Amino acid sequence: HETVYAIASGKGGVGKTTTTVNLGTALAEAGKRVAIVDTDLGMANLAGFVSLTPDSMTLHDVLSGDASIDDAIYSITENIVAVPSGTSLDEYADTSPEGLREVVAELRDRFDYVFLDVGAGVNHETVLPLGLADSVILVSTPEPAAVHDSKKTLELTERAGGAVTGLVVTRTLPDSDISHDEIATRLETDLLATIPEDSAARESVYAGTPLIVYEPDGPAAVAYRQLAADLAGID
Ligand code: ADP
Ligand code: MG
Repeated sequence: HETVYAIASGKGGVGKTTTTVNLGTALAEAGKRVAIVDTDLGMANLAGFVSLTPDSMTLHDVLSGDASIDDAIYSITENIVAVPSGTSLDEYADTSPEGLREVVAELRDRFDYVFLDVGAGVNHETVLPLGLADSVILVSTPEPAAVHDSKKTLELTERAGGAVTGLVVTRTLPDSDISHDEIATRLETDLLATIPEDSAARESVYAGTPLIVYEPDGPAAVAYRQLAADLAGID
């Protein structure tokens, strides 16, 4: 199986961090060793999803040369670690994303799965992870604007020398704007999963607990666990 996955979208607020955290947690529950990495350097917020308050170094410190990767790896539960990013603008201004290459190479050797939570938009730090990952998973809601922006991320991935494996459509409702197969067709990629709209997703962020732990039998949790099983080839 592939090791390093970039979870990416064109538009913000579509469920990338939710997908990163829950896919990672589901694989950890299945006994895989997992690292989740906040490469959304400008709008970092992954740590809050798992109640992590970094007491010392973050990915920003690693990228600015002030820390080693080991200093920025935080154990979450038995099989999963998180690499958080700093949240202040000063830290962001100090950072050069180039060092990500080395960080990813290091994590690749140590974990079964590495998930990079990629920032939205088009800039150097969003493009770099797309090329470093073995596999890019596009995340989009069923709204036309989100689908349109994902098309750009797809093109960026190709330019960065990366490969898109498929699409996860999130926050789906019974009467979605565009059918999920139609979205995958427009993006010329495979539909990997649809994650239903589920109020527990938001609540779980406030609780600082991954959705699949917060409400294990809810519709979104079930869909994330199935996606994890599909990726890992387990039933
Ligand atoms: P991104 O990382 O792409 O900006 P997030 O994962 O932070 O997106 O999700 C954006 C918002 O949408 C959050 O408030 C999150 O709780 C909510 N959300 C994500 N997935 C779902 C879902 N399946 N159902 C309902 N709300 C969701
Ligand atoms: Mg996010």
